[in-house]
Amino acid sequence: MSKNYVIGFPRIGEQRELKSVLESYWAHKVDFDAVKEVASELKKRHWFYQKDAGIEFISSNDFSLYDTVLDTSIMLGAIPKRFASLKDETLYFAMARGDKERVAMEMTKYFNTNYHYIVPELSTADNYKLNAAKILKEYKEAKALGITTKINLIGPITYLGLSKRIDGGDCYEFLHKILPIYEELLQEISKLDETITVQIEEPIFVKDINTALLSLIKPSYDRLANAAANINIIVTSYFESSHEATKVLCNTPIWGIGLDFISSDENLNSLELIQKSGKTLIAGVVDGRNIWKNDFSKTLALLERIAKTVDKEKIIISSSTSLLHVPFSLEYEEKMDANIKNWLSYAKEKLQELSLLSKLFFDGFEALDAQEQKEYQENINANKQRENSPLIHNEKVLHRVKNITKFERSGLYSERIKLQKSLLGYEDLATTTIGSFPQTQEVRSARSEYKKGLLSQKVYEDEMKNYIDTCVAFQEEVGLEVLVHGEPERNDMVEYFGEQLDGYGFSQNGWVQSYGSRCVKPPFIYGDISRPKPMTVDWISYAQSKTQKIMKAMLTGPVTILNWSFVRDDKSRAEVAQQIALAISDEVNDLQNAGIKIIQVDEAAFKEGYPLRKEKIASYEKWAVDAFRVSVSSAHEQTQIHTHMCYSDFNDIIKTIEAMDADVISIETARSGNKLLKIFKEVGYKQEIGPGIYDIHSPRIPSVAEMVEQIEKLLEVLPKEQLWINPDCGLKTRKWEEVKPSLLNMIEAVKIVREKQA
Ligand code: GLN
Ligand code: ZN
Repeated sequence: MSKNYVIGFPRIGEQRELKSVLESYWAHKVDFDAVKEVASELKKRHWFYQKDAGIEFISSNDFSLYDTVLDTSIMLGAIPKRFASLKDETLYFAMARGDKERVAMEMTKYFNTNYHYIVPELSTADNYKLNAAKILKEYKEAKALGITTKINLIGPITYLGLSKRIDGGDCYEFLHKILPIYEELLQEISKLDETITVQIEEPIFVKDINTALLSLIKPSYDRLANAAANINIIVTSYFESSHEATKVLCNTPIWGIGLDFISSDENLNSLELIQKSGKTLIAGVVDGRNIWKNDFSKTLALLERIAKTVDKEKIIISSSTSLLHVPFSLEYEEKMDANIKNWLSYAKEKLQELSLLSKLFFDGFEALDAQEQKEYQENINANKQRENSPLIHNEKVLHRVKNITKFERSGLYSERIKLQKSLLGYEDLATTTIGSFPQTQEVRSARSEYKKGLLSQKVYEDEMKNYIDTCVAFQEEVGLEVLVHGEPERNDMVEYFGEQLDGYGFSQNGWVQSYGSRCVKPPFIYGDISRPKPMTVDWISYAQSKTQKIMKAMLTGPVTILNWSFVRDDKSRAEVAQQIALAISDEVNDLQNAGIKIIQVDEAAFKEGYPLRKEKIASYEKWAVDAFRVSVSSAHEQTQIHTHMCYSDFNDIIKTIEAMDADVISIETARSGNKLLKIFKEVGYKQEIGPGIYDIHSPRIPSVAEMVEQIEKLLEVLPKEQLWINPDCGLKTRKWEEVKPSLLNMIEAVKIVREKQA
């Protein structure tokens, strides 16, 4: 018996084949047939990976050319009006990416992951109509290859929960419109085979769920489960506990319930109900969100614990989430330290884990063949070896974390700011930028050639310095007041620091889909973090030596470093954050000792790390704020600390932002006028703020007049003494042709406003 299950498999391809073909297609270099061909090839390959590994429940319809939420909109016929005249792939990609006449649909993060989905736009004008083609076709495609799949669907409640109404009103009002489409779909599916399993994903159930939402579950799943007699419906949730919804689901005629036991122990409290209901439990015990090798002894103990309540015959062993959130295969990691590599497991390796775990759990060790016994032993050894490895333990770091005495900087803000203003002498409405300047082709290739050893250190450094010179000269010329060096030496704001910290690892091919064809390669924290030597001081000092103006140094904060990495699972995130914070505080100290007067510690991903459930928020805020405060605790009173955050909704976290105690914060508000600023005023926020006054995410060049208007709107809310003027994020993805006129206009706008004020 081997009952095992994979929620979903990554689709971009181990060599990012889907990315390549999509981008060639978008660039009109190949036609759509080429895309279809690669897609079929990938689907086939991924199905066979799972089949060959001995996976029983393999998905179809987990593949997508862009995004599965977008696929669901197509399935329902939820097509915004502006796309009405388009069809097939032209329609699909226009919805995802826009075209000359039409803006793309909005894209946003899927729960607390770095995967982005296309936000459905709903309105009463919509005319929902089933389009089951993709779903049916994919099932048949697998079947023709001899693989019977379970069919993955995004559930109706989650779909609506992820949508927005463009005509105002509540998305859930449309449940009665889309449920019949889901029913019709299930009836179509039921014709495909004698019996069929359908996995309906409802991750929305793990968020704080109110009674109104809870009350939708039973009627919906009563209907869906009765839509066709030969379909077994499994409702899965993941990323957190879904105990409230599970309780309700137990009273519906669905066949199985999938729970994530990795991200939450709370799900264990639902076991009794599941047992009573007689439903099958899809037990998510292999981590779909992280890259560590499963610890078989721990997982078997967990499964035994589950089996105390739920009959063994009713348990299926599963990944905790779709494997979409981890890279493909360790095969391509040729440069990684062999010890460390042996502690990891990507998607393909997780298939083996699921397969072996299910044999161990259901049939016992004795039933394994010699090869499998060896694999089991290797797993036990690797985990032991990791636990005891000198690579991950650093006594000095542990000692330092235990004995932190300085948890925050000295001096009250009200005193510090007076000192800083008198020493730095910047004007009201001081102008600055967020850090990076355009990453030109030359800068990128110099960096990559240096990395490959094709460029000597001297030549490389000279090129970077040249670029810094250009940035400094430009900023002086346009008349910016607080300058930056431009960040040409940084490929990525987290990777750059990770590469210089001990305890950090990097993959060669660890790509994870972020959105559409875009992938990211997050670094991973495997051991205690320390900083062998200064990381930014030389570059910033060089830049400062080139100007009489103030050079603002750029660091990435501990919470962002953590949130954009795979994190070790043998220590709490809070503790890892403290370790990083200490390393950053050393850097802050070295910078100020080198004569740098303003230091920006970016926390771009601070909001992203927020837990999905309310009861966990307080503890996150506590350790995240603590870590930030420690990271700047070394700053002298006269050293001005800036921070920057990318997202825009501060209403529920304003007190937390305040507690970070930065002297200046720059935020992304360009697209919302002064609305977002109001909350700062409401709570009596004292520190200085740079609300981005233009949107850098678009190539558009903002005019002087509109920026004057924008600044004046800000002044309606906050006094000029409290305001800085800057773009809303780093400029690295823009072109110089856009950046130059935009910043010139920004400076001009500030001049005009200042004159008017005087
Ligand atoms: N300092 C970084 C930059 O300008 C900040 C980037 C970010 O907020 N994502 O690129
Ligand atoms: Zn930003």
